[in-house]
Amino acid sequence: MTLDLTGIGVSRGIAIGRVVRMRHGDPEIYEQALEDGSVEAEVERFRQALRKASEQLHAIRDAIPKGTPSEVAEFIDTHLLMLSDHLLSEVPVNIIREQHCNAEWALKLQRDALVSVFDQMDDPYLRTRRDDIDHVIRRVQHLLLRGEAPSDALAHDLRGRIVVSDELSPADVLVLHQRHAAGLITETGGPLSHSAILARSLNLPAVMGVHHATRLLQDGEVVVLDGSSGMVLAGADRRLLAEYRRRQRAEQIHRRELLALRDAPSRTLDGHTITLRANIELPEEIRAARQVNADGVGLYRTEFFYIHRQRPADEEEQLQDFRRVLRALKGKPLTIRTLDIGGDKDCSAADVGLPGRNPALGLRAIRRCLRDVPGFKPQLRAILRASSYGPVRLMFPMLTSVPELESALALLESVREELRAERRRFDPEMPVGAMIEVPAAALAAPGFAERLDFLSIGTNDLIQYTLAIDRLDEEVNYLYDPLNPAVLRLIRMVIEAGDAAGVPVAMCGEMAGDPRYTRLLLGMGLREFSMPPAALLEVKRIVRRSRLDELSRRCRDLPMTEPEIRALVEALNRDL
Ligand code: PEP
Ligand code: MG
Repeated sequence: MTLDLTGIGVSRGIAIGRVVRMRHGDPEIYEQALEDGSVEAEVERFRQALRKASEQLHAIRDAIPKGTPSEVAEFIDTHLLMLSDHLLSEVPVNIIREQHCNAEWALKLQRDALVSVFDQMDDPYLRTRRDDIDHVIRRVQHLLLRGEAPSDALAHDLRGRIVVSDELSPADVLVLHQRHAAGLITETGGPLSHSAILARSLNLPAVMGVHHATRLLQDGEVVVLDGSSGMVLAGADRRLLAEYRRRQRAEQIHRRELLALRDAPSRTLDGHTITLRANIELPEEIRAARQVNADGVGLYRTEFFYIHRQRPADEEEQLQDFRRVLRALKGKPLTIRTLDIGGDKDCSAADVGLPGRNPALGLRAIRRCLRDVPGFKPQLRAILRASSYGPVRLMFPMLTSVPELESALALLESVREELRAERRRFDPEMPVGAMIEVPAAALAAPGFAERLDFLSIGTNDLIQYTLAIDRLDEEVNYLYDPLNPAVLRLIRMVIEAGDAAGVPVAMCGEMAGDPRYTRLLLGMGLREFSMPPAALLEVKRIVRRSRLDELSRRCRDLPMTEPEIRALVEALNRDL
């Protein structure tokens, strides 16, 4: 009988192998009172465990093969730094001495205190740091209790094995990779955890968040995992296994071909260069953008500075973040979108008041920002100031009309004046653009192009507003269609308006990263695509196999009905 489980696919690839279970569990820790005479021996026992943990992490770090992405070592360095921080190395010693308690208990008290500080911060972002602390402390706890870390207990050669665990620290992931594990399944964790990022960097297929996996899967049984879809399958018969092995081989070949394209130019067969940028929502994602060698960032969503926090990030915090991302981009452009809060985006840190009757049509994005100028200015100041450190481009979301654009531009100019008066540095030539994601803006695109340095089509919203379909409403999802002729006509109008004004037009909605539409969009005249990094190499592959002159000819007169458009897209993609 097959057992079909689902989790979150966090690192692509199909893996097939026998299960090895590994449980960390939260070690049971009890308080033990110490005799006066044994306190110093306990302090020494604690210090020995710290030394051993540090030796283990150094050994893991030293075994990282040459050519592995640098962030892999950075994760281990972070844990080593934490281990030597006085909060972990000295405060527990003070607790042992003051409370005459065992080292495990002292460490637990300190862990609870640190974690509660992180919990109060209420920043999803800092959660990863909280997890780091937990992982480091758990390693020391295991050393104190059992003399070994959980991954030490596993066999040294895990070739062809799938490790199933309640959770995995980045160091565990590295150890398991060094022992050649074929794939990972965990009960907890998500795509932004450091362990997931690491699994992706190491190309180790992984599915996280599979509830009760360590109970439902048995040691030695064969499982199939699909790190893209998040599927975990146990008990597959021979025929099914053979099918998955075939898919695995095909996928491996395809991935190798794609990776080989990382440094290849994004150029069509007839010699036109197409710009391929990355969309990122969190600064960590810049790593993924670098891994695929994106031409910079075409959309940096900044909502994380405001969402799920008790207070928004201030000017300095935003500036420091932009500088970090710019440094990582090494001279490639960073397109920062100003706050787009409201509608589908939650807004706990913004002063939201009651939700409107229809949030998608209400006080969202630039509308909200223009209403709350004192709240908006710190972001504009941070973006302008960041422009003195590297190629920054500012992009306003959700504009509906030219007068609204002019208000936004006037506000930006007043912020420039402020910075000049304060003698703060910024790039006076910083390009300013707008997202075209409301049909009214698409229809008025010439007016936008005349006043801006670039346009970027946001198809996620453009489709929602053109077709009157709530992008999050599952009941009407089936109607959400990028190939609707009305949507395509609006896209074409924007591209033509940009061409007429000599202003570059990009697309940063999901449609830009969907390889089914790459040729159609090229044929319609799009020359800049911005997309999730994971999609970039596939789009590049298609660009490199396309002839622009031929696509332009075939897409000159777009059909008027959906079936005809679908037939055209199919015909364009036939040889892919
Ligand atoms: C869009 O609407 O296409 C877009 C890129 O913006 P978001 O998805 O953040 O609304
Ligand atoms: Mg949008």
